Amino acid sequence: MKITLKNLTKKFPSRNKKVREDVIAVNDFNFEIPDGKLIGLLGPSGCGKSTALNLLCGLQKPTSGQILFGEDDVTDLPAENRGVGMVFQNYALYPHLTVKKNIMFPLENLRGKDKLSKEVMEAKALEAAKLVQIDELMDRKPSELSGGQQQRVAIARALVKMPRVLLLDEPLSNLDARLRLQTREEIRRIQKETGITTIFVTHDQEEAMSISDIIVVMETGRIQQIGKPQEVYDNPVNLFVAKFLGTPPINVFSGRIENGSLFIGTDKILNVKSADGTSLADQPVTIGIRPEGFVLSDDGALTLNLTEVEVMGRDITVVSTHPESQNVEIRSIISSENHVEITGDTVKFAIKPHKVHIFSVETGQRIEFTAE
Ligand code: ADP
Ligand code: MG
Repeated sequence: MKITLKNLTKKFPSRNKKVREDVIAVNDFNFEIPDGKLIGLLGPSGCGKSTALNLLCGLQKPTSGQILFGEDDVTDLPAENRGVGMVFQNYALYPHLTVKKNIMFPLENLRGKDKLSKEVMEAKALEAAKLVQIDELMDRKPSELSGGQQQRVAIARALVKMPRVLLLDEPLSNLDARLRLQTREEIRRIQKETGITTIFVTHDQEEAMSISDIIVVMETGRIQQIGKPQEVYDNPVNLFVAKFLGTPPINVFSGRIENGSLFIGTDKILNVKSADGTSLADQPVTIGIRPEGFVLSDDGALTLNLTEVEVMGRDITVVSTHPESQNVEIRSIISSENHVEITGDTVKFAIKPHKVHIFSVETGQRIEFTAE
């Protein structure tokens, strides 16, 4: 089901007596979530992700704005009538109930004409358990399960009523690295199998990029950018988004445009024009270069001070510094097939133009350019 957010805003009164200003946890959200997609809601801790989910599921009331499920306005509908399944970071299972009882719990609450027989409830619980592959564990208690298994129970419980919308709030944070990888693939598989419109909240950009159809990048209550993961990675609207996506992170330099050329210190990196072919004004700029944007070259334009070379099987990471770098160290990744001895105090790189972004120093907005 399609979800539409219109001017959705949530303010909390300030807890700090000295600062009277409200906290705007969700600030004027406007977007449409297409039916049947997996949306990754992504941003640093405290940016308002959980608040946005709580508004969607009805645990909190917005200060203003509207939420539509399909064509229905659900803004004032109580949580239990929205048809939403929710999964939290800490699983929130009932410790005294078996896996089966935990999964059946949302069905036990159905009353009147929706009331189900025990047989139907058990069949539905088993179906949900099979979907997340824990049907062998139905008689165990949560304390007898691993973290990954507990989270699967929580997902099964959220799915048992076949919700119209599935909301997951940092569901993998309490799992170790290997289980995190495995469980995120599982979530993707289940989402595709059921076709349920799903919103997956995380502060981990790699997690969001790897499983989402669309990512929504947030900072301090505001949406920064919405798009397919690769599109957002390739075309960040501002420095915040460019820095937030990518591991290792984008390398950021203080630079300038001068006479149609892009400079880092005394090194002339590229000749640049504005996207429409006119010349770009001379100005100081912030320059971002992705780690994969460097090509080892004896006559490369950018000279960096070599710190060390890390050989990591498939890739080689060249670690270096530069006086104009805003990162403590610059990381350049090159394929180990291009293996060459890298020695000496400095290393020279040519730069791939499409891996370079230029940002306004004042606003952080990206300045579009074409390279010559
Ligand atoms: P995230 O999930 O992205 O870490 P949250 O949605 O939990 O962020 O919080 C967003 C902001 O709203 C934070 O500044 C947080 O302190 C504030 N906040 C969240 N819930 C409340 C609340 N119940 N009362 C007051 N402030 C809150
Ligand atoms: Mg949160």
